[in-house]
Amino acid sequence: METRRDLRGILFVLVVFVGLAVIWRDLRYDFNFASDMHKAELGRRRETITQTVTSIALQTQIETQTELTTEIVKLSEDVSPAEKASAAFVILTRNKDLKGLRETLAQLEDRFNRRYHYPYVFLNNEPFSDDFKERVRNVVSGECHFGLIPTEHWSYPDYINQTRAAEARKDMAERKVIYGGNESYRHMCRYESGFFFRHPLMNQFKWYWRVEPDVKFACDIDYDPFLFMEKNNKKYGFTVSIKEVVETIPTLWNTTMDFMKEYRHLIPEKNLMEFVTDDKGGYNRCHFWSNFEIGSLDFLRSEQYMSYFDYLDRAGGFFYERWGDAPVHSLGVTMFLNKNEVHWFEDIGYYHGPLWNCPKGELNKNKKCWCLEEDSIETKNKGWSCTLNFVALPNP
Ligand code: GDP
Ligand code: MN
Repeated sequence: METRRDLRGILFVLVVFVGLAVIWRDLRYDFNFASDMHKAELGRRRETITQTVTSIALQTQIETQTELTTEIVKLSEDVSPAEKASAAFVILTRNKDLKGLRETLAQLEDRFNRRYHYPYVFLNNEPFSDDFKERVRNVVSGECHFGLIPTEHWSYPDYINQTRAAEARKDMAERKVIYGGNESYRHMCRYESGFFFRHPLMNQFKWYWRVEPDVKFACDIDYDPFLFMEKNNKKYGFTVSIKEVVETIPTLWNTTMDFMKEYRHLIPEKNLMEFVTDDKGGYNRCHFWSNFEIGSLDFLRSEQYMSYFDYLDRAGGFFYERWGDAPVHSLGVTMFLNKNEVHWFEDIGYYHGPLWNCPKGELNKNKKCWCLEEDSIETKNKGWSCTLNFVALPNP
């Protein structure tokens, strides 16, 4: 490597020297002998020669630089983790999301995965195009799996009255409830609530990290969050928590209470329900924002969570109302897990419009964040976040 670089250096100096000699000869010829007409022609020749010399010189320089840069990147990238979790990123997305998805993937790779190479599972209710697959593969360092969602997981169960569902959408659209009139959004929420972890491509994994197109990662993630979860007996991790739009979940809490009564044997003695319960025993609307999640697939596939999901699915609120996967996951998590099993990734700089989880104080500096800590939801959108309530809860 050293000798090759020396040779290139010598070549670079030689090329520049020869180029200058040619120009100098032409210039002398020009001034001493040429007629005016010749001068114009020689001027053009001189320009061409100068351009060629410059471009060769530049090319040599760029090549030398590329070699240097590659060497530096390789050095810092050479963190071959001795231990890896059985884990994957899972991304529900569409062909048209390619641009925002690539931006997100590039950030995730730069801040974390270029050193760990965890695989990706991309899921879609329509086939991914070859162009999409290729351009996604181009920006990541992990293996890519592209999965088609089976129709049974993205359609109406036979017991759903589709006329009633359509009326509910119309009514919610008129009341301007967010995504109230949107049919595909409802299939998406139901899918994320009860199906993604059962996709055949996910069977081989124990841990998932949910990612969406257009989210940002603003800080170094200089350890393996999957292994962190595994080694500390965590089951669910989040970055942002907020309060749900009440119009989307009129009967979710009562349905959940009914489930808890009927399935009392599945509910552990100590759980995290305090996080979601208000003074009067109702739902305080707090939930973990599910666009970011690092969690246990075994938990979602457990008899406990599956019984809860099936119960909700039967009740029809994914279609007759607009139950989101965030409150559904959160109620499942708080019902079946205790505080020790849930983790706030305070140190992961994360943005999903319009909210930030941005590390504060020393963390912001140590993790080389570019987000401003004052933009974090707990500071900028006080009153929206539930995270400080979570932190304040006693451990079991
Ligand atoms: P929001 O975060 O609640 O505003 O909803 P998003 O529009 O971000 O959707 C949540 C996730 O589901 C994102 O990863 C989207 O890419 C994905 N998504 C939403 N609708 C569809 C859909 O119809 N098909 C597919 N394949 N993905 C979808
Ligand atoms: Mn989103």
